[in-house]
Amino acid sequence: MSNSIPKIVVVGGGAGGLELVTKLGKKLGKKGKAEITLVDNTHTHIWKPLLHEVAAGTLDSHEDEIEYLSQANASGFRFRLGKMDGLDRNRKTISLAPTLNPDGVEIIPRREFEYDYLVISVGSVSHDFGIKGVRDHCLFLDTTKQAESFQNKLLEAYLRAHTQGKPLDEGQLNIAIVGAGATGIELSAQLHEVSHLLTAYGLDEVQPQDVKISIIEAANRVLPGLPENLSEATTSELTKLGVDVLTGERVVEVNDKAIFTESGKTIPASIKVWAAGIKAPEFLKDIAGLETNWMNQLVVRQTLQTTLDDDIYAIGDCCACKWQGHDENVPPRAQAAHQMASVVYKSIRNRMAGKVAPEFEYHDYGSLVSLGKYSTVGNLMGNLSKGSLMIEGFMARLMYLSLYKMHQVALFGPFRVAMLSLSHIFRRSVHPKIKLH
Ligand SMILES: Cc1cc2nc3c(=O)[nH]c(=O)nc-3n(C[C@H](O)[C@H](O)[C@H](O)COP(=O)(O)OP(=O)(O)OC[C@H]3O[C@@H](n4cnc5c(N)ncnc54)[C@H](O)[C@@H]3O)c2cc1C
Repeated sequence: MSNSIPKIVVVGGGAGGLELVTKLGKKLGKKGKAEITLVDNTHTHIWKPLLHEVAAGTLDSHEDEIEYLSQANASGFRFRLGKMDGLDRNRKTISLAPTLNPDGVEIIPRREFEYDYLVISVGSVSHDFGIKGVRDHCLFLDTTKQAESFQNKLLEAYLRAHTQGKPLDEGQLNIAIVGAGATGIELSAQLHEVSHLLTAYGLDEVQPQDVKISIIEAANRVLPGLPENLSEATTSELTKLGVDVLTGERVVEVNDKAIFTESGKTIPASIKVWAAGIKAPEFLKDIAGLETNWMNQLVVRQTLQTTLDDDIYAIGDCCACKWQGHDENVPPRAQAAHQMASVVYKSIRNRMAGKVAPEFEYHDYGSLVSLGKYSTVGNLMGNLSKGSLMIEGFMARLMYLSLYKMHQVALFGPFRVAMLSLSHIFRRSVHPKIKLH
């Protein structure tokens, strides 16, 4: 490290990265003790667990998005737009691909940034496992843009059906979701709610029962990563809503009209969503000789430093970190990214002060799954519950909402979050419950 102040570069301003740069900026950047840079390939941040609401149209992404430049200005870090595509560990630089405008015209040329400490927090993308037709015929919910394009497609399908002046064709408004993890389940419940709202708002040539929602899962139960009683409660709620739950069905092919499973089932659907697994972005695979796994995740030690380079950390969905006391890695969740951001913040401060890097220990506080306005189910983990305690209804809903509030508090502090929540309530009282364009 040179005599000047350390350069800390964080790539990816998501659930983990944005909390980290905000903390580092406030404590070190504002005081001139370090130069903190956030790099992201988009201009704005939206908390990823909200994307299924953006897709369904029950949340307008513009309401909840945060401008990186504005957050940087308020918190003492600088923001640089660009997509990381390379790393030189000898020169301690990262490289960003040229940034193009929507017409393909270059607006920012390729550039490099030097670092003393580098934190990679670029999240994950959907894993199609090479299954035929998935890339071409399914929609994904990895980014705000994809969630918005899902919403457009849904509205277009509704408008077409509402105005065609003849009965609906077979499967015309069928929606099939592959993957019954939290994302797929929450999306299916939101879409059910939306089918009622759109009819109520005047697209009444289409009735809610004209929309058939199916969810397809290879495991023998929904929410396979969570306790069985949660799966049972969720299946029962979804069945009550009329969602067709197909478990033990492995998808082998998708075309423009249907989804095909190994057991020979054909599920006709005009809108198909893939939410069946994740991997870290492709550019990370073996990047600069660092250790990565089959999901392209950077393998890290308990300190969250990559196995082969002390000055490079990885956090959130893009890292593979052993979950102590378990046979698996820390799961790809917002709560893990949040906890990892806190440990890396301490680690960098400790190391700048000549102290040792702390170790990360994942605390699983349980999982909550929102079934739209109908219900929320979840399990709480911890000493009080001595394992897993099932919760449902109002308490679960309250706790679900508090997860997002905690993220907002990490970014804005409690006072501004209280003001934001109030303005949200007022806004909701005059705007429709669903985005209609
Ligand atoms: C619909 C949905 C619902 C979910 N619900 C829950 C839930 O209820 N509870 C829960 O705990 N988790 C949930 N998750 C998972 C959770 O969103 C992720 O685990 C969490 O967002 C991971 O945080 P992260 O910081 O690793 O990455 P992200 O939050 O994904 O952020 C990654 C950032 O990196 C940027 N980026 C990517 N590539 C590059 C590049 N090459 N160069 C520069 N920037 C780049 C992206 O633009 C993004 O800003 C959900 C996910 C989805 C999709």
